[in-house]
Amino acid sequence: MEDINSCNIDKLEKLISQARRIAIVTHMKPDGDAMGSSVAMYHYLCTFTSAGAKIVLNDPCPPYLQFLTEGIPASDLIIRQEKPVEAETAVRDSDLLFCLDFNAFHRADKLEDALKESKADKILIDHHLNPDRECFDLSFSETDISSASELTYQILMETGRIAHDASMLPAASATALMTGMTTDTNNFANSTYPSTFRMASALLAAGVDRDGILAHLYNQYGENRLRVLGHMMKDLMTITEDGVAYIVLDKETLERYNVAEGDTEGFVNMPLSISEVRMSLLLKEEDSKVRVSIRSKKGTSANRCASLYFNGGGHENAAGGKLNIPGDIAGIKDAAEYIERHTHIFLTQKKEDEK
Ligand code: 5GP
Ligand code: MN
Repeated sequence: MEDINSCNIDKLEKLISQARRIAIVTHMKPDGDAMGSSVAMYHYLCTFTSAGAKIVLNDPCPPYLQFLTEGIPASDLIIRQEKPVEAETAVRDSDLLFCLDFNAFHRADKLEDALKESKADKILIDHHLNPDRECFDLSFSETDISSASELTYQILMETGRIAHDASMLPAASATALMTGMTTDTNNFANSTYPSTFRMASALLAAGVDRDGILAHLYNQYGENRLRVLGHMMKDLMTITEDGVAYIVLDKETLERYNVAEGDTEGFVNMPLSISEVRMSLLLKEEDSKVRVSIRSKKGTSANRCASLYFNGGGHENAAGGKLNIPGDIAGIKDAAEYIERHTHIFLTQKKEDEK
């Protein structure tokens, strides 16, 4: 936790106390960690400062996470897709910006220019590899940690207001932090550290309703989610000789099963349960691109594969990116061949490198 030192915490508290207009931004298509860290910081700022804050999202909060934003007034939760001018103005005109759970401005998609142009002091709180530190006035970047939510928890615990007592966190912040850590660790299955369990323990002792969170996260889906999962695993999954499992969801399949944002959350992990599978890819077709999710077992780098062949990046064993249509492939029908060719090169070159 090199960045969490008394000098940086003092700087953070000074920036917060001087700010009049604070905005919180996270990555496009926000997941549980993005929403959890943002909502937690929002309630901390609303509780302990007169400035308050606005959360500015590029895309809407997915339905399975909307329990986190209940009670936040519409004027404090601005979605660029719905209100582009208001969203960009909130970012440009802020005097303090929190950038949570992303490592470079382009990960905020269409908010990128507003972030670049904003004269605000910018604070990074993130757990991805290779952060653009030079873009920020204060960086808290830690990769050996479960989530941006855990890092936010560690930082808030150091502040004078919380003073290492989790029961001093606003209840809504505590719930949001537990939620973000839970989704990014896949419910304690990956990237858990001793500090992660200490955080969970302190939050439980402070009264967080973990059963309630789990019910929201995992027991509120529509029937379509399991129906499309069945179809994916039975009919759409291919396993290559290199130990790569991949599934391509084209637009027609996504529409047939009425798949909404968040409905396929966690599916990309499942093929890793097969002994010979080293890496798993899930592709979803969108307009003029395919979004790619990659997960890998220890010893195979999802991050490297994403950055070499899928215009992306992320963490060592959980990464993402995209294929442009046209550009990387002519159409969705070419995706399978692209994946097989490039993952073969990736895994065989890796073997050569190891010799
Ligand atoms: P997911 O597969 O859950 O969408 O993303 C897994 C991880 O990869 C997340 O940490 C996410 O931030 C990162 N990631 C996803 N898509 C991209 C991308 O297009 N570019 C980069 N640099 N990282 C991505
Ligand atoms: Mn995260």
